[in-house]
Amino acid sequence: MRTAAEQRTRRAVAVLASGLLAAALVAGCTSEDDQPSPPSAQASPSPSTTAGDPAQGFSTPVEDRVYPDVGDPGVDALHYDLRLAWDPGSRTLDGVETVELRATTDADHLQLDLARPLEVTRLTLDGADAPYRHRGKDLVVDAAVTRDSRHTLVIRYSGEPGPVPAPVQRKDFSETGWTVTDDGGAWTMQEPYGAYSWYAVNDQPSDKALYDFTLRVPAPFVGVANGELLDREQVRGGPVTYTVTRWRLDAPASSYLVTVAFGDFTTVTDESSTGVSISYWTPAGRPDLLKRVRRAPEALAWLEDRLGPYPFDTLGILVVDSQSGMETQTMITLGDTRYATSPEVLVHEIAHQWYGDLVTPVDWRDMWMNEGMATYLQGVWMAEDQGVAITDVMDYWATFEDDERAKAGPPADYDPAFFGSSNVYYGPALMWDELRQRLGDDEFWALVRDWPGVHADGNADYDDITSWWSERSGEDLSGFFDSWLLGETTPDRG
Ligand SMILES: [Zn+2]
Repeated sequence: MRTAAEQRTRRAVAVLASGLLAAALVAGCTSEDDQPSPPSAQASPSPSTTAGDPAQGFSTPVEDRVYPDVGDPGVDALHYDLRLAWDPGSRTLDGVETVELRATTDADHLQLDLARPLEVTRLTLDGADAPYRHRGKDLVVDAAVTRDSRHTLVIRYSGEPGPVPAPVQRKDFSETGWTVTDDGGAWTMQEPYGAYSWYAVNDQPSDKALYDFTLRVPAPFVGVANGELLDREQVRGGPVTYTVTRWRLDAPASSYLVTVAFGDFTTVTDESSTGVSISYWTPAGRPDLLKRVRRAPEALAWLEDRLGPYPFDTLGILVVDSQSGMETQTMITLGDTRYATSPEVLVHEIAHQWYGDLVTPVDWRDMWMNEGMATYLQGVWMAEDQGVAITDVMDYWATFEDDERAKAGPPADYDPAFFGSSNVYYGPALMWDELRQRLGDDEFWALVRDWPGVHADGNADYDDITSWWSERSGEDLSGFFDSWLLGETTPDRG
């Protein structure tokens, strides 16, 4: 996700371009100065089991150290089939959901997250009606399961979904999940959680799964989701004509990277220089927005030069009524603002397809793994675009980094109430540039390119990535990473 504080990025570029760098200090994006104690750094949660190929949706779920109340490590979802019908008039969602899952431990129940405005009307487990409880957002199926046993849950549900509160102090959003627009459309952004506002899900980053979607809505609205558009048809239902689209995401995704939107979208498709299909879904009657986001092939080509081939089969850009941008996997969701549709945000969100989507943090403590590199790549792009040195961009970002760290905590040990604050963006970006200077460009960029493939389709944590950099560089970098990621103050820059 791009941060509200990145608004300053745009100003930084203007400032850099006009040579008035020292004059630019902009107010922070957080509003609270009181500092609850951040949680102490803990050892990595002990994994449950790894029972199969990550590319097929097998994961090693853990209890999230930052947000332990969401998600359950007892479930390893492999595949979600979501058949969703949206009524823009009544703002009602009807879902038939089939979840293929693995139990990760012997237990007397299976637990998913599903927000209470949605009412389960029928639930079967392996073909038979099963007893369940739905209290708060916890959907608990009472059934004895054994470790590594495979199950099929079918859940029928209905209701008027809405967003859920987000643990953030940001200006661009305060809620996540299902968001209804004035014209009866809907869209979703759901980091760090909030997918449970519209389907039953193990809503945590450590559980990746494959997805199929069938989306039905009265025409001219159309449903958009992650992955490849398999087909689109018009279907008569009484006096109403519906648009039915089918989508398939055949690379495993964490729930915060899933997106669905219903609206009156115009669609156009381009192809990148390397043959990747790029589809655009922009609001009808807004050719200006389509023109802006059609710089995606250029952004993708720039990133492929540094990171290697794009890791998925398709790319899409979906523009909705939001203030933010989100790296939803293979179908990036952007707000309809000038900044959210800018080239630097395109670079940032496409960079996340490698850093965040292909390889995903085990839990939210290591969000810096996503935002640090996406922000750094964005900064490198900005420097090239503006014809300034990368160190000029870094010097500017460094002017507020310590203050952001003081407000929200160290990047890898932040205050849970300050999710996605500037501290996880700029400090880690500065860190990567320090490492580039220490290792030299050739070695640094070779390793930046290699890392996502090491855990392709899977997850990694702090120890995984920091020890890998030490091994591959032949230098013990543990103190370097610890001081940048766990330190209370910004380390001195070289
Ligand atoms: Zn981001």
